[in-house]
Amino acid sequence: MTNRPLPQIDDDAPFWNAASDHEFRMQQCGECGHVRWPPSPVCTECWAEEHEWTELSGRGEVNTWVVFHRVYFDAFADDVPYNVAEVELEEGPRYLAPVECDNDDLYRGMPVSVVFEDVTDEVSLPKFEPK
Ligand SMILES: [Zn+2]
Repeated sequence: MTNRPLPQIDDDAPFWNAASDHEFRMQQCGECGHVRWPPSPVCTECWAEEHEWTELSGRGEVNTWVVFHRVYFDAFADDVPYNVAEVELEEGPRYLAPVECDNDDLYRGMPVSVVFEDVTDEVSLPKFEPK
């Protein structure tokens, strides 16, 4: 178990169910093919409702990041300083997650690949590793 806050699973249940199987899935429009995040009832490009939860490559590049030096959440106190990066995925969406590396090694354009941390029996959190 973890004392960390867990995601509140709602419309994004297919995302979290896939993550618990270590698959990285997001909604892909059945009309125009646009891959979107966060989940939405309609395509953010063409407004079509048809979509599937397609498996992504898990590859992307670091676009930007922050390093937390201050304890804002007690559950993360032991991790300070830790980073949270915005990763631009190959398929287009940007996803926020930690990159497992020394904070000083982060750079814009750093190639990364998704990995999953099993935090409970039901929840696995996507994060990234340098590639
Ligand atoms: Zn579309």
